[in-house]
Amino acid sequence: MIRCGYCGHEFPEEEGIRSCGRCGKPGSCRMVRCPRCLYENLPEPQVIKKIKKVFGSQK
Ligand SMILES: [Zn+2]
Repeated sequence: MIRCGYCGHEFPEEEGIRSCGRCGKPGSCRMVRCPRCLYENLPEPQVIKKIKKVFGSQK
């Protein structure tokens, strides 16, 4: 889950708007936009995903 740094809305990474392609960053943009306010958030770090997997809290 990603918590929006602007409005605090929590959403799964899949629900976020990815690859905006308009921010001018080189390569593919990895930012994930909040579906509610469109604030750009950093994607969930892989490390955290692994930790979640270990504890089996998701899915
Ligand atoms: Zn937001």
